Amino acid sequence: MKQPDSVKDIGRNPGQPMAQINPLEQIPLPPPFDKIDEEPTFAQITDEAREKFVVLDDTIAVNIPKPQNKEEEDRLVQGFLSGLEKCMSTEDNWAFLQPFEMSMEHCAHCQTCSDACPIYEESGENELYRPIYRSEILRRIYFKYVKKESPKVHGDIDLNWEVVARLIELSYRCNICRRCAQTCPIGVDNALLSREIRKIASMEMGIVPKELHKDGSVLQLEVGSSTGMTPMIVKDNIEFIDEDTAERTGITIETPWDVEGADILLIHNAGEIMAWPENPGAFATVFEAAGLSWTMSSEAVAYDGINYGVWYDDVQFARVAVKHAAAAKKLGVKKIVLGECGHAHKALTVIADKILTGDLNIPRESSMVTLRDIIRSGKLKLDPSRNDFPVTLHDPCNLVRLMGIVTPQREILEAVLPPGRFREMAPHGVENYCCGGGSGFAIMSGHNFQDWRHRMTGRRKFRQILEAFSDEPMDKEHPKYLCAPCSNCKGQIRDIINYYDAWEKAGIYYGGLVELIVNAMVDAEPGFIDWEWH
Ligand code: SF4
Ligand code: SF4
Repeated sequence: MKQPDSVKDIGRNPGQPMAQINPLEQIPLPPPFDKIDEEPTFAQITDEAREKFVVLDDTIAVNIPKPQNKEEEDRLVQGFLSGLEKCMSTEDNWAFLQPFEMSMEHCAHCQTCSDACPIYEESGENELYRPIYRSEILRRIYFKYVKKESPKVHGDIDLNWEVVARLIELSYRCNICRRCAQTCPIGVDNALLSREIRKIASMEMGIVPKELHKDGSVLQLEVGSSTGMTPMIVKDNIEFIDEDTAERTGITIETPWDVEGADILLIHNAGEIMAWPENPGAFATVFEAAGLSWTMSSEAVAYDGINYGVWYDDVQFARVAVKHAAAAKKLGVKKIVLGECGHAHKALTVIADKILTGDLNIPRESSMVTLRDIIRSGKLKLDPSRNDFPVTLHDPCNLVRLMGIVTPQREILEAVLPPGRFREMAPHGVENYCCGGGSGFAIMSGHNFQDWRHRMTGRRKFRQILEAFSDEPMDKEHPKYLCAPCSNCKGQIRDIINYYDAWEKAGIYYGGLVELIVNAMVDAEPGFIDWEWH
């Protein structure tokens, strides 16, 4: 296994990978996927790509072109230093300065965080993926070149364009799951450092994966959604979903649009509307059955809870968050409810709290809580025996670790499942493992990045899923339901189940939480969950 010896290696041997993973040396998965030599192959990046773009390891996420002359090399270094300086100023980074500065100034090098990082673990403890490997490089650059303190105290590093370019690539080898931050005894947030490196690259240098920026934030702000759906198309799609859902349940529904003064503005991740229409259909069914006063907004951006800026760029983030709040204000709703999307929760609740002031500071609520309250109200007649299959729960990082929303989803499951059918993953709740798609990875697939994420980030979650169902026959004749109440996580989980062919080989199916509620509703035709793979 190739790996760096020290942080100084980041600037050495340009063009050569600093680390390489031998898939045959990875920790084997539980049965029936325990034969490591029978696992899908790990595609290699082409020689042409290695020639053209900055090389860090076995994959390429950002596509940073190699500089062609000294001027371009200098521009990379100066751009990075200028961005880092701004990150350390109150004027330019008032939102994140305090935790950023604290995490930059302190680290006891105790390595507690390394044990918590699933990427480091699945890599066979490769130094490149140690949580503080990238943090330590950033710290040394900061102390030597920005703060101009003695390298004798803080450690030395020589800065060149290769260091900058590789460090930016390395910030896209972290799920920003914050499992490391949670374990750090002094509160250092290595995930924030990854995010701030990405921010410097995007905001100061214009370097960012196109899936997040051009095909994500920019498209969302231009047409209304990163899926490309305009207001007219989203209304058409929801109308079709309402009709299709009514056919399946026998319950007529009509999603309300632009209702002024409604209690709730519901914002889905628009990916649900495109890829998992049963999810918005189930929300409409439950909200209508519970008699809620609710609406969706056909204002551009406001029907898509996606906010990719949360992973890489404060300005993109703020533009989208303000549009969400402004649509709610225009309608005069009492609160915004966020559908099943973890990063939308993080964006519009925790982070947006910094910018939504005055009359834009409209209460925001997780749909986990809204749905839990509906269940508690007793307005739905439920027959848990309709969900008579094994179920486990994936905890999206942003719901549990970031926001502490742990019990509402479990209370719902207790109400809609027969006794003995639910099993927790180990660990779960705030100790959960990321699905492997966090921080934008679920939508990134250039070169062989998809293979890299299956082998390096999604593998820990897949191992957990298999362990959770280990007391069940692992074949398609015994279907099992992995409940993942997050659109982004569902995308990653779908991809990893496909990669390992786990639906065909082990009967592992996936879906959201609200679908299990509708599947148990006595007033609905049985069989809302159809076990059709998609
Ligand atoms: S746990 Fe905290 S103090 Fe210890 S090495 Fe990691 S970041 Fe540094
Ligand atoms: S945020 Fe998650 S993926 Fe990133 S270094 Fe920490 S534990 Fe590892």
